[in-house]
Amino acid sequence: MDDITQGISCNSISDRDGICGSCSDTTTMEICANCGKEGDSLKSCAACKLVKYCSRDCQASHRPQHKKECRRRVAELHYDESLFKQPPTLDDCPICFVQLPISRNTYKSCCGKVICKGCIHAVYNRDEEALCPFCRAPTPESNEEIFQQLMKRADAGDAQGINNLGFYYADGIYGLPQDFDKALELWERAAKLGSATSHYNIGNAYYSGRGVEQDEKKAKQNWELAAMKGDVNARHNVAVVEENSGNMKRAIKHYMIASGYGQNKALKNIQRLYSQGCATKDDYTKALRAYQKYLNEVKSSQRDEAAAFDDEYKYLEGLI
Ligand SMILES: [Zn+2]
Ligand SMILES: [Zn+2]
Ligand SMILES: [Zn+2]
Ligand SMILES: [Zn+2]
Repeated sequence: MDDITQGISCNSISDRDGICGSCSDTTTMEICANCGKEGDSLKSCAACKLVKYCSRDCQASHRPQHKKECRRRVAELHYDESLFKQPPTLDDCPICFVQLPISRNTYKSCCGKVICKGCIHAVYNRDEEALCPFCRAPTPESNEEIFQQLMKRADAGDAQGINNLGFYYADGIYGLPQDFDKALELWERAAKLGSATSHYNIGNAYYSGRGVEQDEKKAKQNWELAAMKGDVNARHNVAVVEENSGNMKRAIKHYMIASGYGQNKALKNIQRLYSQGCATKDDYTKALRAYQKYLNEVKSSQRDEAAAFDDEYKYLEGLI
């Protein structure tokens, strides 16, 4: 679902610093929300910062009317704080101890470990038999064996195992019937156990209407939950939705975070927004630096060897 359509570009570049007018703050005239008095020394509501007052009395008499909106805005601010917080990075590979890249890792349903392609390739190169590089279990050969192994992980409450089982049902592979209801049920279960990918998958289902009634709001909600748990592809999708809705500042914030976690498309979008005058040069430089830092963190010679051996093992998308 990475390729959800790119949205509007904000071409309305203002004369201020080359930054697009629709993406920057516009100054509003200061008016007391209660009595309508104008002034430049009005005090904001400390909780929501949405409204201003000329005096304590005005604030007090406006409170009954303002209370509901104030609470809604405070909840929103609280949610945004979690949403835009730096999410957790992926774990290190349990064999080479280098941080896992955001894609092309292998989940082993024998032991439930996620292993980088560098280590997978190294062990397949060395051993005649295809053994799990972590627990040395032989690779299952039949669909039945694959299913049984994954079922064991699922029964043990392994969120990623349950998520993968959901995939098998969604695609109807390994001898399983295609069953979206079952897939969604498994993803909901894995999401409750903390799987970011499952929230992402549920979001994708709602976005495409695959197995559920199409619902963009629910898609975004699930992508946001995935993003908070560290799924950068989900964060990229949230950014695209925000951009399509004209919320350029929120879009840029998401693209920036996703770039720092290795999401190549997010970096490209920052570059595009910069060239359109919607993001600043500083945004672009920061995103580029953060992306470069990610590349350095996940790079290893063993992974490079694997990538040179087989395109399937390519784990990096270079700078743009
Ligand atoms: Zn007033
Ligand atoms: Zn308020
Ligand atoms: Zn590794
Ligand atoms: Zn294993």
